[in-house]
Amino acid sequence: MIRARIRFAVPIFYFLFSIFAFPLAAQTTPPAKAPAKQRVDLLVSGGAIVTMDAERRVIEDGAIAVRGDAIIAVGPRAEIEAKYVGTHFLSARGRIVLPGLINTHTHVPMTLFRGLADDLTLQDWLEKCIFPAEAKNVTEDFVIWGTRLAVLEMIRGGTTTFADMYYFEDAIARTTKAAGMRGVLGESMLDFPVPDNKTHAAALAYTENFLKKWQGDPLIRAAVAPHAAFTNSEESLKDAAALARRYGAPILIHVSETKRENDDIRAKFGASPVAFLDRIGFLGPDVLAAHCVWVDAADIATLVKRDVGCAHNPSSNMMLASGVAPVGDMLRAGLRLGLGTDGPAGSNNDLNMMEEMDLAAKLQKVSRMDPRALSAQQALELATIGGARALHMEKEIGSLEAGKKADLVLLRTDLPHAVPGYNVYSTIVYTLKASDVVTVVINGRTVMQDRRVLTLNEAGVLAKAREFAEKVKQSLAPPK
Ligand SMILES: [Zn+2]
Repeated sequence: MIRARIRFAVPIFYFLFSIFAFPLAAQTTPPAKAPAKQRVDLLVSGGAIVTMDAERRVIEDGAIAVRGDAIIAVGPRAEIEAKYVGTHFLSARGRIVLPGLINTHTHVPMTLFRGLADDLTLQDWLEKCIFPAEAKNVTEDFVIWGTRLAVLEMIRGGTTTFADMYYFEDAIARTTKAAGMRGVLGESMLDFPVPDNKTHAAALAYTENFLKKWQGDPLIRAAVAPHAAFTNSEESLKDAAALARRYGAPILIHVSETKRENDDIRAKFGASPVAFLDRIGFLGPDVLAAHCVWVDAADIATLVKRDVGCAHNPSSNMMLASGVAPVGDMLRAGLRLGLGTDGPAGSNNDLNMMEEMDLAAKLQKVSRMDPRALSAQQALELATIGGARALHMEKEIGSLEAGKKADLVLLRTDLPHAVPGYNVYSTIVYTLKASDVVTVVINGRTVMQDRRVLTLNEAGVLAKAREFAEKVKQSLAPPK
C-alpha cells in the first residue's frame, strides 16, 4: 500500500514540480543580459547620413561610430546606438551628415592677396600683378598667416582635405597639421627665382627635405608641384617627377588651363600639353592635373590610360574666362575627377566648396544648353568621392564607410533658404551655403563645433590678415 502510494506520489511530485518549478526557475535565473555596448571615441547620431558609398546610401535617422581616426560603423541610429556608446557624442538630429569636402586644387596663402587684382587675363594677372606682389611680400611668416586664414575659411565651409601648390610648403604643412586639417601639399617649382628658392638646385634640395620630413604623417602628404608646362622647362618637369617618384610622393601641376597655353605648347612641341607631358614620361597615377579645360578626346583617353587625377575649377575657369572643361566627356571616360576652388586671389576669390559644387553643375548645364549635363548628385560626387579618387586617396577618404578616416561634416537645414527639402542632393548642392556647415570632424577630431573653430584663434588671424594687407598695399604703391 505504502509502496503503491509512493509509486503514485512520484508522478504527482513531478507534476506539481513541473507546475511550480517552471515559474520559480524563471524568477530565480538572472534575466538574459543585453550584450555590453562597445565603447567608441565618438558617436555621431541622428540626421540624414549621405554616405557617398558605392550604393550611394542615404540613411535617414542614421549614426556613425568613430574609434581613433577611423569610422568603425555606419547605419540606422537604433542599430548603432544599441551596439556602441561614445565617450564623445555629437547630435546630428535635424542635420545632414556628409563626408568632408575635398578641395583638389588651390594655393592657400594667397588668401592674403584676396581681391588685390581681378578682372584680368591669366597671363596679365600672373605677370603684371601676382608674380611681382609675391616677390615683394611672400615670406615664411606671410605663408603661415595666409594658411591660417585659409584653413579657418575651409573648415567653416566643410572642407576637410585640400591639395595645395605654393612656396614655403613646409610651413603650410606645419600650419595645416596644427589646425587638424588634412592636406596634399606640393612645393611649387618654377624656372625663375621664387620667394623661397632662388635656383633650381635649391628648389630640389628644399623639396627633397620636405618629402623626407613628412613621410608617414597621418594628415600631411608632402608633394612636388612643378607649376606648368608653359612655366617649367622639359628638364625641370622631369627632375620634379623623378624626385617625387623616388619618395612615392604625389605630383601636382596645372595642365591645359587656357587656350593660349594649349596654342603655345602646340607651337613649341607639336603636341597638346597632355600629349607633351605623356611623351616625356611625366604622366602617371601619382599626378594630379589641375584644370584640363582645353583637353580633346585623345587627351582624355591619355589621362585615363595613365590613371591621372584631374581637378575641375569652375569658378576660376569662369572668372579668368579660361573656358569650360568637358566634364561630361571626362566622367563618361572614367577619368578620376575632383573639384577645386583654385587660389583665392584673382581666380575665385574664396575657398568655398559648397559654392563650387553649385557652380560646377550650373556651368555644365548652361554651356551644353542641357540641364541634365551635370546633376546635383554628380556635383556632390566631384566634391567628395571624386576628389578622393583624383588624389588616389579613395581608400581613405571621400565617403562615410567603416574603415575610412573619420572626416565628416554636419549641415543645418532649419533656415528659410533650406526649407522644405524634397531631395537631399538638390538641397546640399543648390540651396545650402558654406555658412550652414555647423560642425566638422577631421581624422576623428572635432575641429569645429556649432560654428566655433576649436583649433585656431579666429579674431587673431583676421587681425593679422589685415596687417598683412597694409604691407602688401605699401609694397605695390608707386614710389613717391
Ligand atoms: Zn592654380
